[in-house]
Amino acid sequence: MLIVKKFGGSSVADRERIFNVAARCIEDYKKGNDVVVVLSAMGKTTDGLIAKAHEITPNPSKRELDMLLTTGEQVSVALMAMAIQSMGVQAISLNAAQIPMTTTTAYGQAKLKRIDSERIRHELDSRKIVVITGFQGVNKYDDLTTLGRGGSDTTAVALAAALRADRCEIYTDVDGVYTADPRVVPNARKLSEISYDEMLEFASLGAKVLHNRSVEMAKRYNVELAVLSSLSCAEGTIVKEKTKMEKMLVSGVAVDKNTARISVLGVKDEPGIAFKLFDLLARHRINVDIIIQSIGRENQKDISFTVDRTDLDEAMALLRENMEVLTAQAVECNSAVAKISIIGAGMTSNPGVAAKMFEALSGVHINIRMIATSEIRITVLIDEEDANRAMRVVHDAFSLAE
Ligand code: ASP
Ligand code: MG
Repeated sequence: MLIVKKFGGSSVADRERIFNVAARCIEDYKKGNDVVVVLSAMGKTTDGLIAKAHEITPNPSKRELDMLLTTGEQVSVALMAMAIQSMGVQAISLNAAQIPMTTTTAYGQAKLKRIDSERIRHELDSRKIVVITGFQGVNKYDDLTTLGRGGSDTTAVALAAALRADRCEIYTDVDGVYTADPRVVPNARKLSEISYDEMLEFASLGAKVLHNRSVEMAKRYNVELAVLSSLSCAEGTIVKEKTKMEKMLVSGVAVDKNTARISVLGVKDEPGIAFKLFDLLARHRINVDIIIQSIGRENQKDISFTVDRTDLDEAMALLRENMEVLTAQAVECNSAVAKISIIGAGMTSNPGVAAKMFEALSGVHINIRMIATSEIRITVLIDEEDANRAMRVVHDAFSLAE
């Protein structure tokens, strides 16, 4: 069996953890498997390197920043190969240029294009554990690039696809995907399986278990992912296509507090207003989420929408400058709001899911300010102070606890 094992920064943060990972890899190897290990930089190394760059200049060149950041992963793989060798097993570390693993040119946000598997195969055939740098690639100028923060997950999935691995295991400091954040909902349960689409919804709502692009890639190449903890032997969560498994009505509840509501009031009820408004925001790269437009009254209407809280100030300044163009009487905002979502691949074919969620919220007098739905998600905007309570009642309403 060929197994790709990816370990995040916290799993290789110090000497002891490096040896822990080495032992786990050797265990699989000794069972006769081919083992490819993908590593992130140790602990908070990447943050530290970014800070170092900013000590030099507030605007480091993107090429040089990638040259710097890729050193983090190189430290991890070299130390890991040494650890494995010191335990009496053959190992070799490889960086992206040595493989080579080629990407687009865009420094800091490069996309993987091609992985040459020949060198890796050759090392595996000579019975070595192959330890590969995550997060990095090499572009057509032979420069090192990075795939965006958290990109090692994507490296692992791409390698699993290229090598047609039998297993792709992603080790993090949580031991799987939960029905809700256990810190907020103490009786949250670990999911044994989840579909790619559900995982993507969870990820876009801020659950930082897997890099979004890694899930997209896993879906495209049909790579089954196991999300596991490097510190326990607990069974994790399998992310896969849910054609065979029973589609859960609702798999989990997620909260997103990085949101704010903006209302543009009293605009003219005529064609082109919504276009002008959202085009203005789009041109300034401000992402808009839930949108509600009121029914026109006396030739006027209101448009409300949500933006990331981090974009709120910029969006408000922009709208205030453009009130006349937008024919707006006023703009107002509220950042003390939160989005609560339920996610489930089975909700498409089951009426009444939304009603059940709204009933749970009304039962504890939580007011819903906006609603949005997709095929596998229902999202409501509520006051931030109600968020944790809302998570718990909705989680209970769908009997998600063990
Ligand atoms: N070391 C990189 C980061 O901190 C990549 C990764 O951890 O996946 O973003
Ligand atoms: Mg990560």
